[in-house]
Amino acid sequence: MGDCTPTIEAELATMRADHADLVRSGSGWSLRELFSTPDCDIVDYCKGFRPNRFGGQALANAEAFSRRHGIWLEAGGAHYNSMTPYLHPNAISAERMTIIGIYNAILFWLNDTVGREKFAALSLDRQLRAKATVNSLCRLLETRCAAPEPAPVEAATAEFIALLAERADARWLDDFLESTAEHLRPAIRDQNAEARGELLSVADYIDLRAHVSGMYPAIALCEFGRDEYLLWDRIRAAGLEDDVRRLRRLTVDIGALMNDVFSFEKECIVDNADFNLIPVCLLDVPGATLVDAVQHAAAIVRDLVTEFRAVCVRLELTCRAVDDRPLVATLSGHVADLVGSVQATWEWQIATHRYKGESIFAENRLW
Ligand SMILES: [Mg+2]
Repeated sequence: MGDCTPTIEAELATMRADHADLVRSGSGWSLRELFSTPDCDIVDYCKGFRPNRFGGQALANAEAFSRRHGIWLEAGGAHYNSMTPYLHPNAISAERMTIIGIYNAILFWLNDTVGREKFAALSLDRQLRAKATVNSLCRLLETRCAAPEPAPVEAATAEFIALLAERADARWLDDFLESTAEHLRPAIRDQNAEARGELLSVADYIDLRAHVSGMYPAIALCEFGRDEYLLWDRIRAAGLEDDVRRLRRLTVDIGALMNDVFSFEKECIVDNADFNLIPVCLLDVPGATLVDAVQHAAAIVRDLVTEFRAVCVRLELTCRAVDDRPLVATLSGHVADLVGSVQATWEWQIATHRYKGESIFAENRLW
């Protein structure tokens, strides 16, 4: 840790003071302008997006499940639960949509009670209990057996795994549960600079944020939602592996980093955290201001969306020459799911009240 910490604290204090000044003066940015390029307006790109048709029923089921297990948050539940039909617009049945909703409800409950933005403010005792919960959840994901006398969130997760295992492809399930553990380990701990004891470069932050975000298991759930699973051997044989992997990674990064901008104030102003692309950009360049950091962060997101669109086009062209037509059909559904996830990232965060309040971003204001 050491010598740099007082400097970091001073820079973050200046960032928060600059934020208060911007809010007071009523200035700031339109997120639509920040995320659009001359040839792609983010609002136009998302036009035509519709959340999943089984959403209403699935959300009621996921809420009932969470209440039965005592893991429903009265204050925010409705505002995070609503993400499910957005992020998985193409899931084929109310049953699959419900199981995905249950998964999201478990992760949001963890995030909003002991997640990285909350962790530093917990008492030592609660921090230790949160660590123990993560360890037993990771054990549960590995063994698929709940410990005796499980905590409510463990009992909920055990029931979720049973529901999923009955309906999912076995190999996909192994990868999905492992990917969930890889999300939980870095997500349920203090990731702030003071606790990490070091500053992350922008590139290292983006790599770690990909796992913290939970977007890898989220896009894996697109396969479960359709009950159609990617066959990587055949994708490789068709010469499509690099583009498919890149498209999935771009979906992850857009989900994670666009969220950082939408949730900057919830996390970094209200909860005083700094594990977010905007403060990471600010601390990366000596003397950078909040204005510089917002512009840098927005440029990163914009470039990711531009590359995402380019890889989609390239993949579609390459697929035309592929003889394995069943593979192409599965892939075209999966690409549609990834496009849906990217559009949902914008659409849901505009729609939910989760990030609304006093804001430097026009779309986050309630008035
Ligand atoms: Mg966030």
